[in-house]
Amino acid sequence: MLKARNCISREVPPYRTPCESFPIELHLDMNENTSGCSPRVLAKLQEIRSNTIALYPDRERAEKLVAEFLGRQASQLLLTNGADEAIDVLCRAFLEPGDEVILITPAFPMYEIFALAAGAKIVKIPAGDEFSFPLSAVLDAVNPRTRLIVITNPNNPTGAVVAEADIMQVLKLAADAAVLVDEAYYEFYGATMMNAVGIMPNLFVARTFSKAYGLAGMRLGILAGATQHISLIRRIISPFNINVFAVECLPEALHDQEFVQKYVAQVRGTREWFRSEVESLGFKCWPSQANFVLVKFGERKDVILKRMRDWGIALRDRQDCPGCVRISIGTQKEMEVVLQALKQTRILGSQRQREEQPAP
Ligand code: PMP
Repeated sequence: MLKARNCISREVPPYRTPCESFPIELHLDMNENTSGCSPRVLAKLQEIRSNTIALYPDRERAEKLVAEFLGRQASQLLLTNGADEAIDVLCRAFLEPGDEVILITPAFPMYEIFALAAGAKIVKIPAGDEFSFPLSAVLDAVNPRTRLIVITNPNNPTGAVVAEADIMQVLKLAADAAVLVDEAYYEFYGATMMNAVGIMPNLFVARTFSKAYGLAGMRLGILAGATQHISLIRRIISPFNINVFAVECLPEALHDQEFVQKYVAQVRGTREWFRSEVESLGFKCWPSQANFVLVKFGERKDVILKRMRDWGIALRDRQDCPGCVRISIGTQKEMEVVLQALKQTRILGSQRQREEQPAP
C-alpha cells in the first residue's frame, strides 16, 4: 500500500482554514484588508491582455522592481507564492530530518506544519509576560542541532513586537542556524531587519502583500536573505511560482504607497479606539502593532463567537491561547458593528446570569 512519509502522516496536523459553513458578511478572521486593494491594481487587472495571460510569468522582472523598492540586490530576493511559500521553501532548503526548529508560542501555525513536513523537530518556547519575546529562553534553547529559529515581528496572533537588539543577539548566538524574521505585518509597525539582509549571513526576512496591500488573493510574498542562500533556494522553487496577474500588478501595488499609508493610518487609529472600547467592556485586549488584536473573552468566548456568527461576523478562535480570540481590524464602521454585537452579548449574558441566579 502506498504510504506518505512518516513525518507527514504521523506528525503534521491539518491546517484548518476558517471556512465557515454559515454566511459571513464581515471577515475579521484572516487579517485581510476589508476595504480591498488599490484601485490602481484593479485597473491594471482589467487591462491585462489575453496573450499576456498565455505566457509564463516573468518573475525576474518583478524581483528587480521589488529589490529596487527595498534597497536590496535582486540576488538577495525571491518572490514567493505568499509568505507561506517563503516559509516552506526555507524549511525545505535547510532542514534535515531531526534538526531542531525553535518557535515562540503562540505562533502562526504554518511554521510548525512546514518544519514537520521537512522532518524537523519543533522546540516550542512560550512567550514571556504579556507575550514579550523570551530572549534568554530562546538563547538557552540554541544547540548544535538548531537549524531554524522563527521570530515573527509583529507577532501573530498577539501583535507583540521584538526589539532589534534581541534579534541581533539571536542571529549572533545561532550563527549556524537560519533565523527567519517574519515581517508579514511590517507596514503596521515600521521597524524592520531588511537592512541587515546580506550583512548578517544567517538572516532571512519574509514579507507579504496579503495584508497592508490588500492582495491576499493574489498570493505574493517576499523572501530576502544573503545571495549565496537565496541562489540555492532558487534551485528548488518553481520558476513560475508567482502568477502573471501578480507580476503585472506588482508595479501598481508598489507605486500606490498612498493607498498603503492611508490604510495603515486608518487601521492604527481604529485599532487603538477599538482596544480601549473592548477594555472598557471588561475584556483584556493586548496592545498590538499589527492589523488585529488579541482579546481574552475567557469562558464567554464560545458564546461570543456564536453571537458574532449570528451577526455574520467571523473572528478567529485561537485555541492555542485559552479563552482568546483574534480580531482583525476593519474599517471604523465595521468595528462599530463588532462592538455593538459585543455589547449586546454582554447585556444578554448578564441578563441570563441574573435569571439563572436563585431568588434571594
Ligand atoms: N506569516 C504570518 C505571520 C502570517 O500571519 C501570515 C498570514 N496570515 C503569513 C505569514 C502568510 O501570508 P501569505 O501567505 O498570505 O503571504
